[in-house]
Amino acid sequence: MALSGIEIYKKLPKKNCGECGVPTCLAFAMNLATGKAELDSCPYVSDEVKQELSEASAPPIRPVSIGAGDGALKIGGEVVLFRHEKTFFNPPGIGVLIEDTMEQAVVYDKRSSFSELQYDRVGLLLRANLIVVKSSSGDSGKFVNLIKKVGEKTDASLILMSDNPEIISAGLQVCKEKKPLIYAAKKDSFEAFGGLAKENSCPLAVHGENIDELAEIANKLTESGVKDLVLDSGARTLRKTLEDQIAIRRAALLKKFRPLGFPTIAFPCEMTDDFMEETLIAGTLIAKYAGIIVLSELAGESLFPLLLERLNIYTDPQRPMATKQGIYEINNPDENSPVLVTSNFSLTYFIVSGEIESSRMPGWLLVQEAEGLSVMTAWAADNFVAQTIAPFVKKCGIMDKVKHKKLIIPGYAAQISGELEEELPDWEIIIGPREASHIPAFLKAQKG
Ligand code: SF4
Repeated sequence: MALSGIEIYKKLPKKNCGECGVPTCLAFAMNLATGKAELDSCPYVSDEVKQELSEASAPPIRPVSIGAGDGALKIGGEVVLFRHEKTFFNPPGIGVLIEDTMEQAVVYDKRSSFSELQYDRVGLLLRANLIVVKSSSGDSGKFVNLIKKVGEKTDASLILMSDNPEIISAGLQVCKEKKPLIYAAKKDSFEAFGGLAKENSCPLAVHGENIDELAEIANKLTESGVKDLVLDSGARTLRKTLEDQIAIRRAALLKKFRPLGFPTIAFPCEMTDDFMEETLIAGTLIAKYAGIIVLSELAGESLFPLLLERLNIYTDPQRPMATKQGIYEINNPDENSPVLVTSNFSLTYFIVSGEIESSRMPGWLLVQEAEGLSVMTAWAADNFVAQTIAPFVKKCGIMDKVKHKKLIIPGYAAQISGELEEELPDWEIIIGPREASHIPAFLKAQKG
């Protein structure tokens, strides 16, 4: 039975030392309860309490990492069925399948698509995460060569795919330090695959012909000490896959059924030959509830919408996306360039900075911390008012960068101009346009 954050807090050392990465034991307890922290992060928990808490505080869906270092993909760790109940934490990995029977040109093409299809959006880099290297030839030499080819030119986290544990073992010899996901332990091979996963400290995918078989194999593997599993229910139609994804998520969250308390993997690439249909299936599985989605190829027209869908679904609905407070230089401004100020709602920042950029006029954009709220909302919440803007302008360092004292405020914040003049008596406060799209014309008019 899962414990609440308060119940967990009662058992923590209450030193509030911050060594676990958050400032207080209470915050750590809340993170433990929601699966956002690992008990091992606190060095002061006694062995007795550790034992007591480890089962109770374990998230209902175990977080699993694939890959090593900063680029490792973390999936699972979810605690709610519906995003609006709280948030979803770990976006599903999107992968592309490459087989060792493919022509070299095709392999290189897929590898390039993986590296090149990256999109900068609201300050985040959106891209695919995984390359699935599949042994279709049954030849371990070809498999190893393909792993090398993929590994030498990309930073992809890998999935090694074969029914033959000997082939997987050969592949692991050249990439085990990258902690690939091994795919897949089945009813008649789980002991050998489990051994490989333990020896090489790699996560292991489990494939069942149906959910019952999947749970049975997963249970045997966890009993044998393999902790990091990824589940494949064997379904290869959209309807059955969707039903299984929902059944697995509900069993893990509502019934706390541990054998199914792991992230899942799904293969739209094996469900249809129509690429657009494959994309639609992937879109469905991003929403519910795949941990990894494997595509037959990566193409901008399908990957970009999938990445955006993933971004939207895995953005915390209770926390606006925010840009870091600071001075942003646009179009190489100098000491005479105009200074504009706005709030740190990401969308506001990107629209305003985009308009300044497209005006080709150099400018300094001051982005003030306002809890990620838009100008109007932040103003209503007293987060973007004269008393917050003035101290920011004084401290941010803009005065060392320009020799004028003219500050352009958003048209929607016109009502604070009087107070701002009092708070910044040396500055001329200029009311800018209400709509960002009018910024280029406004800047040109200001220049005269
Ligand atoms: Fe509390 Fe342990 Fe975190 Fe220190 S490391 S704040 S004792 S939970």
